[in-house]
Order: sequence, then C-alpha cells, then structure tokens
Amino acid sequence: MAYTLLATLILVALSRSSAVPKPASLDLFAPLPDFKHKEELLEHYGDFMLSTMNRSVDPCENFYEYACGSWKESKMLTEKARNTSVLGVIQERINDQILAFLQNATQEQLQDKNHSTSAEWKAKQFFASCVQMKANLSLGYEKIMGQQDDRYAVEWKQHYQNASQDWIYLNFMSHYDVYPLLPMRLHYNTSGRKFDILLSGPSKALANVNEEQLQNMTRDFGIIDEQKRKDFLSNFANLTQFERNLTQLVKHRNDTEQMKLGEFINRHKEDRLNWTRYFDVAFNGTQRSSWPVINLLEDVGELVHFLERTELNVLRSYVQHRVLIKFYEVWKTKTRNGTLASECRVITETYFNYALLPWFIEENFDKERRADVLTLAKHIKDTFYDLLDQYSWLDDETRSEAKTKLTSMDILVGYSDDLQHREIFDAVYSNQNMTNDWYENLVTLEKNRAKVKLRSVDKALIPQVQMTRIANAYYAGYFNQAFIAIGISQWPLYHVDFPAVLKFAGIGNIVGHEMAHGFDSTLYQYNYDGKKVNWWSAASLRNFKERYRCLESQYNKYILLGVQTNGTLTSGDNIADNVGARMAYRAYERNMGSKAWQMKPLQGIDYNNKQLFFLKFAQSWCTGADNASKLSKIKSDEHAYEEFRVIGTLSNMPEFSDAFNCKLGTDMNPLKKCVVW
Ligand SMILES: [Zn+2]
Repeated sequence: MAYTLLATLILVALSRSSAVPKPASLDLFAPLPDFKHKEELLEHYGDFMLSTMNRSVDPCENFYEYACGSWKESKMLTEKARNTSVLGVIQERINDQILAFLQNATQEQLQDKNHSTSAEWKAKQFFASCVQMKANLSLGYEKIMGQQDDRYAVEWKQHYQNASQDWIYLNFMSHYDVYPLLPMRLHYNTSGRKFDILLSGPSKALANVNEEQLQNMTRDFGIIDEQKRKDFLSNFANLTQFERNLTQLVKHRNDTEQMKLGEFINRHKEDRLNWTRYFDVAFNGTQRSSWPVINLLEDVGELVHFLERTELNVLRSYVQHRVLIKFYEVWKTKTRNGTLASECRVITETYFNYALLPWFIEENFDKERRADVLTLAKHIKDTFYDLLDQYSWLDDETRSEAKTKLTSMDILVGYSDDLQHREIFDAVYSNQNMTNDWYENLVTLEKNRAKVKLRSVDKALIPQVQMTRIANAYYAGYFNQAFIAIGISQWPLYHVDFPAVLKFAGIGNIVGHEMAHGFDSTLYQYNYDGKKVNWWSAASLRNFKERYRCLESQYNKYILLGVQTNGTLTSGDNIADNVGARMAYRAYERNMGSKAWQMKPLQGIDYNNKQLFFLKFAQSWCTGADNASKLSKIKSDEHAYEEFRVIGTLSNMPEFSDAFNCKLGTDMNPLKKCVVW
C-alpha cells in the first residue's frame, strides 16, 4: 500500500515539474491517465490543442489548417490515431474497452451456474462461443440444414397436427422471421409510432448471390465432396430460377392501402388468396381485426396460382435456403480491422445491445456527467428560444409554432434511468440460455427476436434508441427528440473538469447541432409532435428557404481534390453546423457574461476564451483520413467534408473574425455571410 502511494506521488511530482520533459509517448487517446489535479488534466489538454495546430498559417486565411494542420504530426497521437479523426479514435477506444470486458472471463466463470441468469454473462458466453466457432461456418450450415424449422410442429403441436401443409403453411413455418413466399413484414411506422403489418411482394435473395460468392459459400460450408457440391449448386440454381419467377408475379399498387386488418380482409374477400387463413397461420390465431395493415400489393392472383402449382418440397427447400442466407450474413460479419475478436464483439453488441448497458454506463457516464451535459443542453435550448424572438423574417404565428416545437423537443443524454438496472435485462434474456455452441446460440436469439416481433403489432414502443456506445448523436424528426450518446460525451471531446468554454464549444456544439436539425431544410416539415404537418405561414417559409439557399450556394463553392461539395445534399447538416455553433457561442455568453471571453483559462496557452471557443470547435473535426476516404465522403455523405464544416460555419460568424482580428474581405471573413437561424 505504502509503495503504491509513493509511486503515485513520484509520478505526479515528475509530471508537474517543468524541469523534467514530459514523456513524448503520452497518448491523448489512451484511456485518460489518473490525474490528481484538474490543472494537470488541463495542461495535458492544452498541450494537445497546441500539438495539432499549424501556427504558420494565417487563421484568417484557413482556420481549419490553423487548428488541425499538424494533426498528422502531433506528438500526442499514436500513428493509428493520426490516420483517423477525433470521433474515430474515441470510437476505437470504446470498442477496445468493450472487447476487454467481453474477454474478461475465465472458462470457469463462463460455466458458473451463478452466472446463468445474468444477461451480461450471457453476452460473455455468447462472445466466447463466437471466438471458438466463428471460423468454422460448416457447423452452422449443418445446424440450419439439419434442423426441423417448423414452429408449428414444435410449439403448437396439438393445434397444427392436422393442419394442411399448403404454401401458406410453409410461408410461415420458419422460426426466424423469414416469410419469403408472400412476405409479411412487421414494420415500425414512424408516423403512427407503432408496429404495423406491411404486405409487399417477394424479394430476391438467392438471385443476388453471384458466382464467386456462391463458390465461397460452398467452401465456407465445407461442401468438399464433388457430388455433394454439384448437388448443392444445382439445387441452388433451381431455387434461384424459382425465385426469379416468384418475384415477377406481383405488381405493387400506385396507391398504398392503409386500413385495419378486419376491413382489409373484407375488402379482399374476392381475392384468390384466402387472407383469413393467411393471417391465421401467421399469428396462430392471435391476430386482431383492429391491427393496422399497409398493403403495397396489387392483385395477388397470379402469384397464388403459381405457388399452388409449385411442389411443396421446392417451397420448403426455398424457405430453408432463405433462412440459410439470413444466418450466413451474420456468420460472415466482417470488421475493418479484420480480427476474429472484433467481429465477435460487433455481433455480440448487436444481440446484447441493452445487456451491456448497465456496465457501460457505470464505467463511462455517471449521473454527474449526464447532469452536466443536460445542463449545457438546457442553456443552449433556452438561448435558441430567446433568439427566436429576434428574427424579423419570421412572422409571429410561425414564431410561436417554432417555440412550441423547441419547447417540446425531448433531449436525451446518454441513457434513461431504467437502462441502468441489470435485473431488467436479466428478465429480458431469461429464456435465452447460452451454450458453448455459437450456432445454437444464434438460433436461440433469432428465434426470440422473431417471436417478439410477432407480438409487437399495434404496440407502441419506446423510441428505438441508437446504440449509446457510438461516438455520435442524432435528432429524430418523428419523435422530435435529440439524442446525445455516451460515446460522444467522452474525452477528449468532453470532460467534466473542462472549463466552460471547452464544454460549450465541444459537446455543447454537438447538442446545438442536433437541436438545429429540428429546424433544418428537411425536418422543418415536422411539427412539435413529430407529425408531418405544416406549421409555417407561406411568407415565413419563403424567407426560410431563401436563407438556407444562401448556405447551399456557399457550400457548393467548396471543392476538394477537384470534387465539388453538394450544397443541397449537405444542406441539413450545414444548417445544423452553423446553428449549433452559433447557439453554443451565444449560450456561453449568456451564461458566463461577455467579460468572460477575455479570460485565459488554460495555463501555458496564450488564447482567451473567445479564441479557445473557435479552436475547440474546429479541433472537434480534425481528421487524418486519406484522400480516398475524403473523396468518397464528399461524394456521398450528408455532412460536408470536415474542413468545410469548419470554414463554412466560422466564416459566417462575425464573432469569429472578431476573435482572430480577421479583416473584412479575408477568406474567413467574407462580405457575404449566410445565417439561417
Ligand atoms: Zn447532423
């Protein structure tokens, strides 16, 4: 004990003494060192800020280059970190943390009966089984092809003993939410916020497998015997032909039919298909006539005729192969770094998303941090609200609607309280026991998913929360909800001990960005309740469009490596960037007083709060991505390329030019500025 204490003291003494050079290997993106004093943390962070800057560049010419120009050479970044972005590195660190957690289990612990009811331990068991078996896909192939995938035979033996095995029966016999002959999808309706039944035509799956993939498949499945291989391939070819015929027989309606199940059956009494039996088999008689149905199908007569004439063993084999392909997609999950462990981590996270949350929250985002970010969010929201009063281009009626939308906006940071309780997830996973057999485990989990889906029709569900372990945030128009994940509220973007300016310019800007999405060029169409209802007066809407078109032409002018930014594609996020930064800036001022701008909170860094605000904002978007990924981003991403996100936003802010003394007419202080909100 005494030794430990001594060692710590020495380390602290060393790092605080200016006579001793700081270790060059100190990596900013390693888990945060255990600083004993807030000052040390800030000194460390200040060093990082300086290390990525290129101060030989005029900040009024290209502020992104000024703030991020030395990212690729920063001594505080490892080689790996230099090739990615701030958020990219945070994500990698989180992924490593999750991996370490999943791996932290001995064989004995995995077999321990005391762990058998814990969802967290089930995740670890699942992960371990994946690492053991994922390389051997032939075991999965044998499992799927060797099993009896007939949920009626297994679960409702009594009832279905005498059931006639027609194509409808076969369509719904699988345990795994695969109903491919005439699909029924359980579909989340964002406007009704409930699951409904979606009827649409059969889709292609086997036909999408090309020759090379098919060869890989037989190899993966360990079908080596020449005769068996031939049989597999010829059967696959026949089923593919069947699928081509099947998918040609249905036309989709021009107008979608939307009604209650009872009404649907009534209206389609004359159809060749007996819809009553169709739903009876699908739901084993538990369906309600009040359930919502969305029908995309034109007449199904031809399809039904075709299915009635096809031999049942062909239909059965087709369903089985669709199941096989569904699992194959999961089995061969790949990740960028390509290690088996990382692939198994990704799959485990998919199936045990919530089960890992209580642990993850404890480790990364306690109540103090959540409250801190929520307080920031409140400041920014209040600021936005007050600013709405100042826009003369908005008439009073629309202004009042905008205020209602902003006030009703739900801002969720990290997690809701119920996600911290292990016993809730233990209950959710109670009937899903994990074994050493990974393929069996997947079957168990998929069976359960399909069952839950079948029970979810017409049920209102809690908002589908994005994985909070992701270094990202979002705004959902149909819930009027902004979500700030735990993954993004992390060092070095955010730290609870940061001075206010780094909080407002960092995570505060992210909050403002997501909030602003509620008022961007697409989502402005949704009202306070997330419904697509027009709440704009004609005049205000005209003004709004004129304002954001200014931004569109501004961004159209940004060219990277000969490729032009698409100002329309990136419009929503450019608005969000511009508004987010402005709101965060104003919120800081509103909260700290305008005198605070002149103070210098970071020792050893000769920048005042005002300058630091813009530096921090810009440095959130530093990236060391290579040209190929920059190019693919600029062509297809809804966000502008990072450099343009920074330049575009700051060149519209007179406050920025004021902070860095940029003369009117310089690149960062153009005469024409675009302001939407
Ligand atoms: Zn966005």
